[in-house]
Order: sequence, then structure tokens, then C-alpha cells
Amino acid sequence: MKPFSNNIVFLDTEFSSLDPNKGEILSIGLVKTNREELYLEIEYKGEVDEWVKKNILPTLKESKVSREEAVKRVKEFIGDTKPHIVGYINQDDVIYWQKLYRSVGVKDNPFHLVSIDFATILFISGIDPESYYFDDENFYKKVGIDYKKYKKHHALDDAKLLKEVYLKFIKSKSGI
Ligand SMILES: [Mg+2]
Repeated sequence: MKPFSNNIVFLDTEFSSLDPNKGEILSIGLVKTNREELYLEIEYKGEVDEWVKKNILPTLKESKVSREEAVKRVKEFIGDTKPHIVGYINQDDVIYWQKLYRSVGVKDNPFHLVSIDFATILFISGIDPESYYFDDENFYKKVGIDYKKYKKHHALDDAKLLKEVYLKFIKSKSGI
């Protein structure tokens, strides 16, 4: 598989609700192909879904940064390289990402406008895109990755796992 570009950064976010009208970003994980990474937890005092309360809040242990600071730190991390962002089922990530930038009055973020969804890459390769998430034991056995070293639903670990899968995937001719 030959991707269009190697100028990519892997993204994962955690957020307060799956309802895009209510939800806000809580954490960001960004990983470059050269192993540089950025992890941020963002100040938030609003409502949180029950599932998030139970599964995400206990994992947020770093000191929180303001939304303005988060946007600044991402810019410092990315610079002017304008990478393509790669996520897995990234429709939610992109919504909360946009909300973050709009809320601080920044229209343009440092990435290309169109993000790359790894779920779609799986789909067009004949692989059930949901197996990545819902059938992880079999999926990662096939891929040959020890996924248990990554903590599920932690933005940085999710982004690191995606990077490992993506790089392995594009190296093989047929995907997996
Ligand atoms: Mg995640």
C-alpha cells in the first residue's frame, strides 16, 4: 500500500459526551512518525456523560491546560509542516477538535482540512472496520501487535496504537 503522503500525525481525543451539541474535548494525543508525541488534558467544568465519568475521568491525571494553551501547544508541536491527520473513526475527534479551535477564535488548525480515517482504510481493504475496536483480541492477533501495552481510551495510547497499526498496515502489500 502506498499512501499519498508520509507527512502525517496520528490523533486521538477523549471528550465529555457523544452528543456533539453538549460534548467538549477533554484530552488530546498526537503522535508523529518520528516518535515525538504530545499529550494534553484540557480544563473542563461542564456536564459529563455517565460512561465518561466512569471510564475516562479516572484516567485524566495530568495538570489541565486552558483551551487557549492547548491550541498554542499544538501549534508549537506541529509548526508549519501542515500534516494530514490520521484518526480511527475520527468523525467525533474532528467535531470536538473544531469546537476547541472555534471556541478560542482560531479558524484554521495546523492540519490539512480533510482528515484521514483509518476505519475507511480497513473497509476498502476488505476488513471489518469495527473489528479494530470491538474484536480487538482477534484483530491484533492478525496484525501481530501487543495491543495490551496500550491503555484503551487514553488519547495518547490510542494514538500510539493507531500509529503502530497504520505503519504495519501500509508496509504489507495487502493490508493485513
Ligand atoms: Mg480514544
